[in-house]
Amino acid sequence: MKLRIGNGFDVHQLASGLPLILGGIEIEHTKGCVAHSDGDVLIHALCDALLGALSLGDIGQHFPDSDEQYKGIDSRILLSQCMDMVKKRGYFVVNADCTIAMQRPKLAPHIPLMRKSLAQVMELDVDEISVKATTTEHLGFCGREEGVAVMATVLLAQNEPIKELFSFKGNGWVRK
Ligand code: MG
Repeated sequence: MKLRIGNGFDVHQLASGLPLILGGIEIEHTKGCVAHSDGDVLIHALCDALLGALSLGDIGQHFPDSDEQYKGIDSRILLSQCMDMVKKRGYFVVNADCTIAMQRPKLAPHIPLMRKSLAQVMELDVDEISVKATTTEHLGFCGREEGVAVMATVLLAQNEPIKELFSFKGNGWVRK
């Protein structure tokens, strides 16, 4: 079975009065992410990890922030499109692990909902998606509450299609 690993890293600036959306969940806070999209930095890092695992570049290449169609877009749509690329190339997600670096608010109570939301979009079981949060002990831009950073890792495994029924054409497996 062929395996591929990918990592993603994203940072967004925080500003007062904006909604804070992480993993498709809106979290009550005084600040939110400055962004062209909905600013879901967790989903962006996850998309980059998926694209990285496929060697397909990064989220900026696929969904440029200069493109009006992505203005204010729900990042779950971007994640679902990245999942389509995974499936089209004959892979599935074994698991994903994400770490959010944010000083405030406390994210632990929101993590179960974030995992559920991501699992839903990615059509995975909740136990295949890990989300962790850490402060940076008041150090750096995360610690000063100027921004939020997320690291994500994903492992993909190749579906092994029955060779008599499928053949690899262009970008993915197609039924013969
Ligand atoms: Mg981003």
